Amino acid sequence: MDNSIKVVFPGTFDPITNGHMDIIKRADKIFDGVIVGVARNTGKTPLFSYEERLAITREAIEACRSLSGVKVYGIEGLLVDFAEEHGARVIIRGLRAVSDFEYELQMAFMNRDLNENIEIMYMMPYIKYSFLSSSIVRNVFLSGGRIEKFVPRVVIRHLEDKVKKLKGE
Ligand code: ADP
Repeated sequence: MDNSIKVVFPGTFDPITNGHMDIIKRADKIFDGVIVGVARNTGKTPLFSYEERLAITREAIEACRSLSGVKVYGIEGLLVDFAEEHGARVIIRGLRAVSDFEYELQMAFMNRDLNENIEIMYMMPYIKYSFLSSSIVRNVFLSGGRIEKFVPRVVIRHLEDKVKKLKGE
């Protein structure tokens, strides 16, 4: 019997931040395999397309040598189906402030209803990332602020390219 525990870390990753990276590194230390799932469908209107989010997330993980075993795939349908297809029994979510809690609870109960065999677990980031979100990073960058401390290096280049494209340069 295979006792290894693989986990999925799903999200919108618009774009991936150091907060996400922190959770991925924590999960990678504990579990036997981490699969980062980039959701095609999201309730939000993303800055980056699905293909871009997938490519940027993959690039950020590949640039991190300690995460060589981590895989990145796109989630096209239900998260629980994605987890099952990849042999993952656990879904990991990051919990920052209390404000994350209500949404996460709703999601957790819905996912459990969809598939009882998959557990959802939560991890807290390093405190310096606990107020960091993709939307804050986007807004600060688009307003001309510095974000080097908050995102993997590859993300900055993609944000710069995106701004140029939006300006029609
Ligand atoms: P979603 O739209 O699914 O919430 P996100 O890309 O915003 O996707 O977040 C994916 C996961 O990463 C969520 O579990 C979220 O709580 C977590 N997360 C986002 N930012 C941070 C952070 N700074 N620290 C820890 N976890 C985070």
